[in-house]
Amino acid sequence: MPPAHNYIGGVIAATHAPRIDVLNPATGEVIGDIPRSGKGEVDSAVQAARAAFDEPAWRDMAPAARERLLHRFADLLEADAQGMARLESLDSGKPIAFTSTIDVPYAVAWLRYYAGWPTKLAGKAQAPAIHGPSFHAYTLREPVGVVGLIVPWNYPLILAVWKLAPALAAGCTVVLKPAQNTPYSALRLAHLAREAGFPPGVFNVVLGDGGTGQALVEHPGVAKLSFTGSTRVGKQILASVASDLKRVTLELGGKSPTIILPDADMHSAIPGAAQSVFVHAGQICFAGTRLFAPRKQFQQVLDGIAGVAATFGVGDPLDPATLLGPLISQAQLDSVLARIDASVKAGATLFCGGRQVPRAGYYVEPTILVTEDRANPGFREEFFGPVLVATPYDDLEQVVAMANDSDYGLAAHVHTRDLATAHQLARKLQAGTVWINTQLAPDPAMPFGGFKQSGWGRENGEDVFDHYLETKSVIARIG
Ligand code: NAP
Ligand code: MG
Repeated sequence: MPPAHNYIGGVIAATHAPRIDVLNPATGEVIGDIPRSGKGEVDSAVQAARAAFDEPAWRDMAPAARERLLHRFADLLEADAQGMARLESLDSGKPIAFTSTIDVPYAVAWLRYYAGWPTKLAGKAQAPAIHGPSFHAYTLREPVGVVGLIVPWNYPLILAVWKLAPALAAGCTVVLKPAQNTPYSALRLAHLAREAGFPPGVFNVVLGDGGTGQALVEHPGVAKLSFTGSTRVGKQILASVASDLKRVTLELGGKSPTIILPDADMHSAIPGAAQSVFVHAGQICFAGTRLFAPRKQFQQVLDGIAGVAATFGVGDPLDPATLLGPLISQAQLDSVLARIDASVKAGATLFCGGRQVPRAGYYVEPTILVTEDRANPGFREEFFGPVLVATPYDDLEQVVAMANDSDYGLAAHVHTRDLATAHQLARKLQAGTVWINTQLAPDPAMPFGGFKQSGWGRENGEDVFDHYLETKSVIARIG
């Protein structure tokens, strides 16, 4: 790849900042480099975004015109689908079987869903409660200003669009900081947005590392921050914004349960449980990483999941037959193998997998650990790798207690034919999303976010606008 540069104010903005190598996780080879942007570059981007926010061309744009821009943006991304899918696979190591059928089509779908919103965002007239008819009152909903978007490397394109699309629909301007491991789709997206007709400075990209993200977090010109990443960094960001009370939403880690009930249709529950944790080598925040199966069917379920995992062809992410790609980096590989090791040392049984795949790149075998010890690291910690931790259960009450015994609460999965029980469990599970007889199925209309340490706030649906709009009350004496 040619050297990558920041994209600020609608132009490619070269800098003298030191460079960071970008690797192909399938081979470990350097494929390009990006600047390690510092405070100066971040400041330029925030200033460009602020200038664009104040420009009548954007600020006073009719909602229907903003709708058309978002649709044109979606059209251009759709036309670029193949190129974008290849780029995302090369950069992130995610098999093209997924980037071409999930990442790019989802990004397009989210842009189109949010294209429908500018024309529906409005305040409301409100009869004053104590002042009576001599007063006229109403609310306005106004974009918060410049928003800082920080995303991780596991779904670089989708997670950027989950933030960008509603922010732009609301009339904000944005500075996007992609992860250093996966910078390319963000840049390509910014160029497509410009081509679609978004005014210069509405969508800026600054490249760099955690320090670059920190500079964005600390910049006084940023009105709101939307962060997706680890719970550790989320806590640091929260501590930073205490100084100026920036608005902030946090989409953080997970350790989501998959509960298979005795009456489940095993023909779909077993492959579903396997896909939930082995797609993208488990590098999915809402992966079903803790499996609960009835004790009597435990062996059958584990054999089934191991069988499905064995069909996940390991290979080059750009080969359409590949279903198991690499982890993102050597550091992630080391971390996942160390956590497997620590879980086994603490008493978990290795049912299958557990080793690095002997080839170039950062591949780990689909792995199943078994433990009934809720203190085992396998039960408690987010691995962010292809590792399922399985636990047998004896009754419903016990499985709910075990499923909820986590610092996280991002998602939960229930497999059963008994829909009454499924909906009862949906109420009892502490999770931002409960999937019943399905998995890996977010929807743009459905709010997404975490209970407990999985985050603050919700993305998607109408709820997300609470973060990108301020509500202003106007109260007038008219009589
Ligand atoms: P991470 O280390 O927290 O990084 C996320 C982003 O924050 C990256 O762009 C990173 O930059 C940047 N960053 C790092 N330190 C920062 C700091 N001090 N201030 C501001 N920004 C900083 O997370 P990750 O390991 O890349 O991603 C995996 C995590 O994301 C997992 O925990 C996963 O569960 C979570 N995740 C959550 C969701 C959700 O929707 N809830 C979705 C996907 C992933 P660099 O990478 O360039 O250092
Ligand atoms: Mg990369």
